[in-house]
Amino acid sequence: MPLSEFELIERFFRRGVNASRPASAPSTVSLGIGDDCAILTPPPGEQLLISVDTLVEGVHFPKAFHPADLARRALAVCVSDLAACGAQPAAYTLALTLPEVSEAWLAPFAEALHQAGADFGMALIGGDTTKGPLTLSFQVMGFAPAGAALLRSGAEVGDNIYVSGYLGEARAALNWLDQPQLNGHQAQLMQRYLAPQPRLALGLALRGVASAAVDISDGLAADLGHILAASQVGATLHSERLPVSPALRGEAGEQALEYALGGGDDYELCFTAPPPHHEQVLAISQTIGLPIHLVGHIEADSGLRCLNDNGQLRSLPGGYQHF
Ligand code: ADP
Ligand code: MG
Repeated sequence: MPLSEFELIERFFRRGVNASRPASAPSTVSLGIGDDCAILTPPPGEQLLISVDTLVEGVHFPKAFHPADLARRALAVCVSDLAACGAQPAAYTLALTLPEVSEAWLAPFAEALHQAGADFGMALIGGDTTKGPLTLSFQVMGFAPAGAALLRSGAEVGDNIYVSGYLGEARAALNWLDQPQLNGHQAQLMQRYLAPQPRLALGLALRGVASAAVDISDGLAADLGHILAASQVGATLHSERLPVSPALRGEAGEQALEYALGGGDDYELCFTAPPPHHEQVLAISQTIGLPIHLVGHIEADSGLRCLNDNGQLRSLPGGYQHF
């Protein structure tokens, strides 16, 4: 007998010591799975930040992707939006569409999902379960003091442009998804694709420091483009300053820079800050143990330019477009 919808929710998704409060849920979660609605109680003076992302098998992740990898990566990708806005994560819901009820698939999926949620400090507080082609839709919720959220629209002429971590790595890994054996560097880059780390500590630390921020899901050029459009400014990037790791340089050679500019899926943050905040940005990098590179400047001339070592313009890749 396959599990009923309610048994499935009870067995895999509802976690907690009592009926209403999920175990280890943040104090802002007042009611979790089991009623018609969940209830969040925002801390006084804080705002609720919400984002939703849908992932469809064969479009956003390959067929036969391991369920544990899928759960972790899918939640991380959604939580990255909270990081970009400087939100403290609180809770998430999952609308899950399954072709069939397979306990062998659901058990590792749910285990990895609850683990990832705990890592990010958030609880699964509800969802929906339907039958159809494998599709996950996560809604993530977090809090920030009123007016403190980082937006795309705050960049000003003269601001520095920074990126966290190293770019282009997950893009390189896409080339090896079907490859049975990976060398050491390739395995390292594959982890960037399979288990992206939403930059939550960075987003929180950038409240009051950054003027604008975005997470890099579609490539630096495309996502910085969102900041430029929302802030009505332009920018110049310096290609030699883009953070390309030795592992990526070794594996992708000539294409490393192209991947760093155009490859999505790393889920690093790109942000701007006025030059007087530079020391603070460096101090944040030290404190959270994450490299941060100054890669360019905001300018009044609209559009995005990228200069190479000789001061020559190089062409920019477009980002991923669904339609
Ligand atoms: P309703 O019919 O009132 O919308 P459901 O029967 O769909 O409620 O869900 C019952 C409870 O289980 C609700 O609290 C809902 O949020 C939760 N739920 C359903 N599916 C999931 C899921 N995939 N993950 C987490 N919680 C779920
Ligand atoms: Mg209902």
